[in-house]
Amino acid sequence: MTVIKDCAGRYFVSFVVEIQPITVEPKNQGVGVDLGLETLATLSTGEKVKASNTNTLDRKIRKGKRKLARSVKGSRGRGRLRVAIARTEAKQSDIRQDFNQKLATRLVGDNSVVVLEDLNVSGMVKNRCLARAISRAGWRQIRTLCEAKANMINEREVRVISRWEPTSGTCSCCGDRWGKLDLSIRSVLCLNCGAEQDRDINASVNILAAGLADLNGQTLSYVRPQPGAVACLSTRQEAI
Ligand SMILES: [Zn+2]
Repeated sequence: MTVIKDCAGRYFVSFVVEIQPITVEPKNQGVGVDLGLETLATLSTGEKVKASNTNTLDRKIRKGKRKLARSVKGSRGRGRLRVAIARTEAKQSDIRQDFNQKLATRLVGDNSVVVLEDLNVSGMVKNRCLARAISRAGWRQIRTLCEAKANMINEREVRVISRWEPTSGTCSCCGDRWGKLDLSIRSVLCLNCGAEQDRDINASVNILAAGLADLNGQTLSYVRPQPGAVACLSTRQEAI
């Protein structure tokens, strides 16, 4: 057993156990997951999962850090403040982890295949406007948790598709490609087949299709030039 004390002054005991994978009947064949910021996860079933709101804790941390910067180095107050910040940060990360754990359990438990997108997280974090929100959302954690849980249940698979797959730029009904969409566009109308879809749900259906094709050793060719196909119009909605 290992006893760990973290910077927030909390103690943990860790030990290793050996387990046998369990068998749980999946409800669905597969699910595609589109990870985002306003909506943490959009599932190909049409479900939208919102992340738990930790804004109050976030404000508290930022306020504490500002105070810490002004405090006298080496003072007792500074030490206390540092532990208080660490505690709040630990609480915030616990809330997020708990949420992501439950989400991953449900995704892997209900579906025989979970398809995620390989996101360039480190590249995106360089975008300063989005950095905090992206790091906080814990996309990487969701993927790691899904993969770990898939190992604990028999006949489960987690597939990660390439980030270059045009999942948001393709109609999930007919395969028509309309190209890159601006992030503010939330709903798309396909002029080829007439389907009007939510941007994220459309992407998650494409993610699922790409993952299943990958699983069967096929390559899903989205490049399907349709003769006479017209560029798709986008209906602009209020960003949620
Ligand atoms: Zn279409």
